[in-house]
Amino acid sequence: MRKLQMVDLKTQYEFIKDEVDSSVLDIFKNGTFINGPSVKKFQSDLENYLNVKHVIPCANGTDALQIALMSLDLQPGDEIITSDFTFAATVEVIALLRLKPVLVDIEEETFNINCDEIQKAITPKTKAIIPVHLFGQVANMDRVMDIAKTNNLFVIEDNAQGIGSTYFSSNNTKHKSGTIGDLGTTSFFPSKNLGCYGDGGAIFTNNDDLAHTIRGIVNHGMYVRYHHDVVGVNSRLDSVQAAILSVKLPLLDFYNERRKEASLLYSNELNQNKNLLTPIVKNDCQSHVFHQYTLRVLSGNRDQLSKFLNDNNIPHGIYYPIPLHKQKAYTDINYNEENFKISNMMSEQVISLPMHSELDNDQIKFICNKVNEFFKAQEN
Ligand SMILES: *Cc1c(COP(=O)(O)O)cnc(C)c1O
Repeated sequence: MRKLQMVDLKTQYEFIKDEVDSSVLDIFKNGTFINGPSVKKFQSDLENYLNVKHVIPCANGTDALQIALMSLDLQPGDEIITSDFTFAATVEVIALLRLKPVLVDIEEETFNINCDEIQKAITPKTKAIIPVHLFGQVANMDRVMDIAKTNNLFVIEDNAQGIGSTYFSSNNTKHKSGTIGDLGTTSFFPSKNLGCYGDGGAIFTNNDDLAHTIRGIVNHGMYVRYHHDVVGVNSRLDSVQAAILSVKLPLLDFYNERRKEASLLYSNELNQNKNLLTPIVKNDCQSHVFHQYTLRVLSGNRDQLSKFLNDNNIPHGIYYPIPLHKQKAYTDINYNEENFKISNMMSEQVISLPMHSELDNDQIKFICNKVNEFFKAQEN
């Protein structure tokens, strides 16, 4: 059996080595390291794949979120509603821009932001909602968009974990995740579903004005060379990463399909286990691209399971062990634990097993046997 890993970028590379190597060597030979033709090409490849008018590449997924917020002409103290149960990047950019993060609880079934809680959190200062498509499953975008429309709020989809998933609206239209809100953002961090070989990110929008604003912001606030109209940043996807991404983008659907197959096999092996809850897919089967395969341990011994897996050299992760409202940097005197029942519970129950496009059936069965063995031993 191949060595178990959370992600297996080495094996993935072996399958695409020739194409990746030659695309990268082209850039070395041509010296077009920054804003070379490969960046334009990837931008247009991704626009076509997502069926979105504008993709603006940038340096990483955190920058993408920050730049998206910077484009909305917000004032210090404006409130941005987001999930209590996400990677810190989502909330850190809000705080960094002196906006106010308003964290709300999640749904038990999907780990995604709870729309009833969004509704309750809205005040006259609320300006935007950032739903996160956590673990690869699209949030309830019909309701998010409905709430946003009624309350005149912007929507930024944090699609760092969801790229390639498709959301089916109740009005029978379907859209790629990240293209439903005013803005969508993603990360090309190597372990993401579409990863490069370093850092990278992008912002998506169908709004021409926001796209124009953002193209200036990523380039030092310049719309005309050496005329700085707004305070910007320097955030670029470099040519080497763009070239690698253009090789990998045509494989994204295949990679996501492999993840889905792995998830089905995992769930098939584990859903008889009364101590566990396997992931629930809402909406359509294409609405979850399994960035993570995350179980809930109902029997209160998640940390013992984690230790057992460590002892058996089975990699796994706890995403996330501490909800954001409890983090020193983001806690607020006004937060009430009663309002974070689900995220608090999830931080104690969740455990994510290896998930990537190169997992094979023997590996998955081995992992599941060990997990089941752990609970059998506990019962005796
Ligand atoms: C990975 C991730 C980010 C940040 O992406 P980077 O490229 O690492 O900056 C933001 N939000 C979520 C939900 C993520 O998983």
